Amino acid sequence: MSGNQEHNNNQTSASARHTAVRGSQQARGLDTKLIHFGGEIDRATGASSVPIYQASTFHQEDILNPPLHDYSRSGNPTRQALEDYIALLEGGADGFAFASGMAAISTAFFLLSAGEHVIVTEDVYGGTYRLLTTILNRMNIEISFVDMTNLEQVKGALRPNTRAVYMETPSNPTLKITDIHAVTEWAREHHLLTLLDNTFMTPYYQRPIELGVDIVLHSATKFLGGHSDVLAGLAVTRTEQLGKQLKQLQNSFGSVLGPQDCWLLMRGMKTLGARMNHSEKSTAKLAEWLSGRSDIQRIYYPGLPEHPGHEIHVSQSTGFGSVISFDVGSGERAKQVLDRVQLPLVAVSLGAVESILSYPPTMSHAAMGAGVRAERGITDGLLRLSVGLEDVEDLIADLEQALGNG
Ligand SMILES: *Cc1c(COP(=O)(O)O)cnc(C)c1O
Repeated sequence: MSGNQEHNNNQTSASARHTAVRGSQQARGLDTKLIHFGGEIDRATGASSVPIYQASTFHQEDILNPPLHDYSRSGNPTRQALEDYIALLEGGADGFAFASGMAAISTAFFLLSAGEHVIVTEDVYGGTYRLLTTILNRMNIEISFVDMTNLEQVKGALRPNTRAVYMETPSNPTLKITDIHAVTEWAREHHLLTLLDNTFMTPYYQRPIELGVDIVLHSATKFLGGHSDVLAGLAVTRTEQLGKQLKQLQNSFGSVLGPQDCWLLMRGMKTLGARMNHSEKSTAKLAEWLSGRSDIQRIYYPGLPEHPGHEIHVSQSTGFGSVISFDVGSGERAKQVLDRVQLPLVAVSLGAVESILSYPPTMSHAAMGAGVRAERGITDGLLRLSVGLEDVEDLIADLEQALGNG
């Protein structure tokens, strides 16, 4: 009995210590948080990384005082370290790790009930679009797609049964910018839940919870993981109350991230700042180089002063990221570039150590009709480049030879 009490006392003091640590951690800069997040040392052994707890269940010494974790779908110490890590970075109450970005996004949408309505940015990620239009519609959830860069359109979509607003900024592939604070302020007046896909910026450059967002979502497959070797999703709630609701959904659906992948993701996340800084500098140089070429029809990058969302982006983010889209004039020319490039991976996905060149018309946006694609600026000559960690001079030289003489 005394052993159990000791166990309880230990847990209480451990959680008090945890809260105190969280408080002082929260005041630190993001580069420090990326390294000192709580899971950088294993408290039991001093090991310099959190152990991979490859276990599905946990022995219960005393069933009246169960251990912190009892079954790995409900909770696993390796996953907990990752979940606390992302919550710290985003400045939210609770973090959650899922098997993929889509698992995180799908689970979050199940906070809604049948008969409710959600307002969604029209250039939402393709997988999210598919979830909304082929699955959630069957659950009798109503969806309005709007141009989120236009607050009047967002306001005009309000219905008596509207429950939530879903944002993605910058959006894919034309990097449109939503005024996060303006949307959340309006949403709060109408008691709407706000969700934001923060994949492109990561908490390193943009922390939506500080701007009033309720739930932040990530495809951690991209910049957070950073090495094109792990598929993962993360979510962070602003409040503990929302955290409890999301926890119940995570446990019910069970699409959790396994301990090995949790560890791999944390391993990648530690270098997020170094990677984001390097790639962003290169992207700025590349954007400048592309701007100087007469054979490039259009460039989409929020770091360019002429980008229509530039000022709003600057007001809500500390960086521009490293995804840049540009129009080389025609489908044939785009194909020529894709055939000729030597350095980038030609693939879907983004946010990795290697540069990734993708062709939205046949890759991420193939399901969209050509007419809708054209309306959204996804023309046949559009290429999207995720700039990696190569020497930027080499990337530019490679693109130059691939573009040829136009
Ligand atoms: C890739 C991506 C997703 C989906 O994430 P997965 O990890 O592939 O399931 C969601 N949103 C954005 C913006 C993405 O780029």
